[in-house]
Amino acid sequence: MHPARWWRPAERGKLLCTLCPRYCLVGEGQAGFCYIRQNHGGRLWNAAYGKSTGFAVDPIEKKPLNHFLPGARVLSFGTAGCNLGCKFCQNWDISKARLDQHDSEPATPADIVALAVRTGCDGIAYTYNDPVIWAEFAIDVAREAHRAGLANVLVTAGYVTAEARGELFEHMDATNVDLKAFTEDFYHRVTFSHLDPVLDTLRWLHHETPVWTEITTLLIPGLNDGDDEIARECDWILENVGPDVPLHFTAFHPDFRMTDRPRTPPATLVRARAIARARGIRHCYVGNVHDTEGQTTWCPGCGTALIERDWHAIRRYRLDGNGCLECSATLPGRFRPGRQDVRTDGGRFGVTLVRA
Ligand code: SF4
Repeated sequence: MHPARWWRPAERGKLLCTLCPRYCLVGEGQAGFCYIRQNHGGRLWNAAYGKSTGFAVDPIEKKPLNHFLPGARVLSFGTAGCNLGCKFCQNWDISKARLDQHDSEPATPADIVALAVRTGCDGIAYTYNDPVIWAEFAIDVAREAHRAGLANVLVTAGYVTAEARGELFEHMDATNVDLKAFTEDFYHRVTFSHLDPVLDTLRWLHHETPVWTEITTLLIPGLNDGDDEIARECDWILENVGPDVPLHFTAFHPDFRMTDRPRTPPATLVRARAIARARGIRHCYVGNVHDTEGQTTWCPGCGTALIERDWHAIRRYRLDGNGCLECSATLPGRFRPGRQDVRTDGGRFGVTLVRA
């Protein structure tokens, strides 16, 4: 096990974990809610350090990130456990697993970076389960990745304390934050967490860091897909992080403890995107369905289709750096310099669940 950061001694021999807003009090021999952080011998340990549950080479559009190095290949990996308890978890075989129940094997930061280079990746994605809970490992891999000239991408629910977030994001270049709904009631009942800390992370990322940030909301029929809730979420985004932060509405499929709900109809995503655009969100996307209109990046100046997508595939690319080829308007995000011809088929890049 690897020594954990962000904790302090508490009463009766327990340890207070200060990594995420759950602030678990962890007794001797016990683990926190996420299972990864454990108290042994009066010290807190990170049981997931160096234990990946597998690797895949993904298109960056799958994270999803649409304004950060489009067409990039990212080596994606996660560990086990999670600090949220989402009843609808779409990755529950990983997030709800204990390390001893999952096939994992040791991988050092150097191993992972070497695998990324060997598989021709442009970056590394910390994903599948929430990397907040294995922050020490993500930080060490990210530092090593930067030395090798790779980008770092963190996919997270943003449920992290102010005490820990600075170090976690220090070596990250981009992030997608899951904003799971826009009511405290949903966060409390369906995810066993709270909304306000996530909003605080989003504000902090936008105003106090250079990390490129996009937001995703998985729309679940009858739970978080009402017009009023979507409009309030968009208004909060406009007021707090501005109109240029891309917003993704993605489709839910029945999974884990939420098999009584239907899949999200494509029409719900179209409706949500229309609401977002009408409120003033400039770059709104839909995901987990085929919808070329809702997956294409449109020029904020002249309306030209700058990056035509179908699901995760890029069919056409009409940018010179950040500039529209037609009107030279600037597209917010991080794009490769110069004129590019980026085309991808959106599939995994031939390496699936390989070992380091
Ligand atoms: S990181 Fe894990 S142990 Fe720490 S407070 Fe969050 S859920 Fe609890």
